[in-house]
Amino acid sequence: MNKYVLAIDQGTTSTRAVLIDKNGDLVNMTQIEVECTFPHSGWVETDALAIWVSVISVINELMVKENITWKNIDSIGVTNQRETTVIWDKNTGMPICPAIVWQSRQSAGICDEFEDKKDFIHERTGLLINPYFSASKIKFILDNVEGAREKANKGELLFGTVDSWIIYRMTQGKVHATDVSNASRTMLFNIKTLKWDEELCKMFGVPMSMLPKVRPSSYKYGEASFFAKGVQICGVAGDQQAALFGQTCFNVGESKNTYGTGCFMLMNIGTTPTFSKSGLLTTIAWQIGNKVVYALEGSVFIGGAVIQWLRDKMHLINTSAESEEKAYACHDTHGVYIVPAFTGLGTPYWDDDARGAIFGLTRNSSDNHIVRASLEAVAYQCKDVFEVMKNESHFELSKLKVDGGATANNYLMQFQSDILQTEIELPKCLQTTALGASYLAGLASGFFADRKHIESIHGCKKNYHPQMDVKEVEARYKGWKKAVEVTRMFK
Ligand code: ADP
Repeated sequence: MNKYVLAIDQGTTSTRAVLIDKNGDLVNMTQIEVECTFPHSGWVETDALAIWVSVISVINELMVKENITWKNIDSIGVTNQRETTVIWDKNTGMPICPAIVWQSRQSAGICDEFEDKKDFIHERTGLLINPYFSASKIKFILDNVEGAREKANKGELLFGTVDSWIIYRMTQGKVHATDVSNASRTMLFNIKTLKWDEELCKMFGVPMSMLPKVRPSSYKYGEASFFAKGVQICGVAGDQQAALFGQTCFNVGESKNTYGTGCFMLMNIGTTPTFSKSGLLTTIAWQIGNKVVYALEGSVFIGGAVIQWLRDKMHLINTSAESEEKAYACHDTHGVYIVPAFTGLGTPYWDDDARGAIFGLTRNSSDNHIVRASLEAVAYQCKDVFEVMKNESHFELSKLKVDGGATANNYLMQFQSDILQTEIELPKCLQTTALGASYLAGLASGFFADRKHIESIHGCKKNYHPQMDVKEVEARYKGWKKAVEVTRMFK
């Protein structure tokens, strides 16, 4: 009988179920959209119960599509949108309010109160004080949902990121747990002691009784008894960390960049955390057995989203793929730079107030130039992150592994390789997030023998090598830096 690892990839806009076989190949996949709501400006919420229903649906659909039963499933891996905060009632198992999504700014006021504690928070959690992370979201719910604080104090409420919520539901309330990579995004977890931090919990008014048990990423969490007897959840990791694992960045200095709506670059920094002075986050990549591996992380807020903007708002292209044709239709951007700071700028600027700008327009500037400049802007922003990583980690970054929807764009990938002066590698399976969760699960269950075996089955689909002259790279990058500087002055 064919056996597979079943990966659940619960993202912000969709839930996917993915079957991975012994060769690390994607056998089949199903996907369902998940809705977010925007009740006020800057707020983003989602229905945790709808997330759970979407998990059930994608699994059922996948089993019908592939004509398999639970007997074909070796183990389950869970990977998820990080930081998104779910609070539910221990007695009923029902969420007490909508989940607050990572993008939501509704707890920004709470973060402002802790501005003077930013160094303390960074030292313990590796994070920068920002509403992005879970701690201020939990406080927001306990402060604003009627009766929540009293119930939490009586030990009647549970908190979890989406992984915990899915595990809780799959195990029919028997297991309330998370993995270290997800815990490290809550802003309540001490990434050195690997324990929930009492002082941080006190600061954010979070009773420790609400918090899940923290487990390794590759670990037998419990039986998914909601679905079947004997099938265990064996791997759990936040989406970006799962992608790092799925790209087999097992060695110190190896890094990956994901080009989705935003871009997330993570580098394996080994078993000792280092702390950035230039806006990178320090985060836990994964834990296998007793061994914890850390990563540095940099984020670009608007990556592939700039292509959506060209399509949906500027109407310069009809499909994302058309951006490649238009970029190749001109020799260069004709001096045009676009800084897509639509929602501020991430690493290394962390500038919430910056807004987008276009520079260098002439009467010759055309739609093609603007499209090309938009793609280049994605690559320049990633170079900003890459440069900081290179300087702070002191590792030779000879290759960058990439994944995500926008890697379909050859122009973008070649330009990225040129501007970084570094080789770019695309894996054979682009669903690296699901792949990472499957590898983690399969290592715990015995489906995959060890990491060496995983390296041997992990294939590469395509490579890009730098072709641009170094002087040209320097001149163009200088133009970008100037464009960012001027953009940030315009507030
Ligand atoms: P997410 O997981 O964040 O939803 P995906 O990895 O599915 O993102 O990638 C979707 C993003 O990739 C979108 O922002 C889209 O604009 C971009 N994208 C998809 N195809 C292309 C393409 N051919 N060229 C450039 N960008 C693309």
